[in-house]
Amino acid sequence: MKTLMELNNIQKSFGKTKVLTGVNLTIGEGEIVSVLGPSGCGKSTLLKIIAGILPLDDGTVTLDGAVVSSSKQTLATEKRNINMVFQNFALWPHMKVRDNILFGLKIKKLDAKEMETRLQEVVNLLHLDGLIDRYPAELSGGQQQRIAIARALITKPKVVLLDEPLCNLDIQLRIEMRTEMAYLFRSIGTTVFHVTHDPSEAFAMADKIVVMNNGVIEQMDTPMDCYTNPKTQMVAGLLGASN
Ligand code: ADP
Ligand code: MG
Repeated sequence: MKTLMELNNIQKSFGKTKVLTGVNLTIGEGEIVSVLGPSGCGKSTLLKIIAGILPLDDGTVTLDGAVVSSSKQTLATEKRNINMVFQNFALWPHMKVRDNILFGLKIKKLDAKEMETRLQEVVNLLHLDGLIDRYPAELSGGQQQRIAIARALITKPKVVLLDEPLCNLDIQLRIEMRTEMAYLFRSIGTTVFHVTHDPSEAFAMADKIVVMNNGVIEQMDTPMDCYTNPKTQMVAGLLGASN
């Protein structure tokens, strides 16, 4: 499998607090990786560094063979071929669904016909027929979540970053959506970096689980290996197995 993203010795502090203390990992093209860890362990910080929203203190992020973040430079988010879905979906309340989705394309200079073709593609992919002339407030939580994914996919990014994408939904919808999301991303071959504090979400979606604690990686393995062979007490405790 071709390596698409490489994190090498990522370090980040806020003031005197060290949040990431040397994170290393590689992600292959088309892989779905779930970063699992307790609240406050640095997951969102890591994701923002990958997105180019936050600069890092030390280490490098390499995307498709090129260094995009180091202590010397941070390539702008819009030049990274990456897109993000946030926990609260972050849809614009005053814009119709159609404009919310197309907003992702605004910075790309595409002609009107190409924009319409792409819109139709994501509408079909995410089953949004009949919804595109509504406002976000007129949609259910699950529908809003699909709109947020559509907006991320319309730019055809190499990597999609998901930060706790389901945590605002009720339990039944979370169970449905995590399976649906994993199926969708696998079917179109998108590489996914997914962050969650919910072990069942990671198990349902990931090819590889990265367990994080206190700014470092405790274990990085297939879901099965993490479960049957936890390398630390923390991983065992988190995944409900014993070693
Ligand atoms: P997680 O997403 O795993 O819950 P975060 O990455 O959001 O954790 O936060 C990790 C730690 O860094 C927390 O202690 C948080 O308070 C701190 N932190 C995050 N962002 C900032 C910031 N912009 N300024 C100061 N501290 C921050
Ligand atoms: Mg977070």
